[in-house]
Amino acid sequence: MAYVTRSEQHELIQAILDHVENGTEISVPPGFHIPRISKNRLVANDWLKNWHKFETFLKTGVPQFTIYTKGNGKLPFHSFSTLPGEQFCPGAGDCLEFCYSFKAWRYPAAFFRQVQNTILLKSPSGRAYLENAFSKIPDHDFRLYVDGDFDSLETMKFWFDLLKTRPGIRAYGYSKSWQIFLAYNRLYTFPENYTLNSSSGSKFANSKAIHEKLQALPVYRGNYIAIPSDSKMPNVIENKSEWVEWAKELRQRAKLFGIQNAWICPGKCGNCTPRGHACGNKKFKNVDIVIGIH
Ligand code: SF4
Repeated sequence: MAYVTRSEQHELIQAILDHVENGTEISVPPGFHIPRISKNRLVANDWLKNWHKFETFLKTGVPQFTIYTKGNGKLPFHSFSTLPGEQFCPGAGDCLEFCYSFKAWRYPAAFFRQVQNTILLKSPSGRAYLENAFSKIPDHDFRLYVDGDFDSLETMKFWFDLLKTRPGIRAYGYSKSWQIFLAYNRLYTFPENYTLNSSSGSKFANSKAIHEKLQALPVYRGNYIAIPSDSKMPNVIENKSEWVEWAKELRQRAKLFGIQNAWICPGKCGNCTPRGHACGNKKFKNVDIVIGIH
């Protein structure tokens, strides 16, 4: 799938955003046009096909990529994503060095979905599509931002107003936009059906005062902390005993990082605990959940 380079993706994103804001013409980087060979025939690559689909979105305003995706065994809930990165995640700090969200850019549909959703949030007509699609999601757990983060107070207000209309949905997320949460708290009331995990890599990570204010918010569950691990996490379902040993080691390592009672993330949200998934569960209030990154 590697036709397009990362810098070409950034180039296209900027051209799209300029187009949306100022009506400028979009020059599509060459990588999107490189054909591939299938059954001895030259055919358009998937990037080009998905770009054409995206162009239809730009021309009509009608979303062409599923807005809320339903995940897999690892994350079996509906979720929402936008573009990741410094420009879109205002609280991003060290996380930019290990952000997994860019991995989704290997897949054309995932890449263009992120761009589409980022643009939908920018206008009343786009937000109407988000609301409409949201009304069709069943009452269940919902992850608000797998990729990307709250980019402004206005965006947070939009989501939290929407969540208030759907008390049956249990939303949760990991955010580094701590300053926006604090600003929201000064002006509005949080929905009861949102749970916040503060995740590692925020640019506010060294500010004890900000973190303390965040911890006092009614939506706050606890920290979700990434710690380097020497080996890849074994599959908790297929190889439980190996996972238990691995988790034991990571728990010890967490102590070196000052985390005394780490609860180790098993990586499969659908099978996380018999009482539902830990990150969306306020019974795990102030528990440090640790994930090993390798
Ligand atoms: S602790 Fe559970 S809910 Fe949180 S990320 Fe890990 S598997 Fe998912």
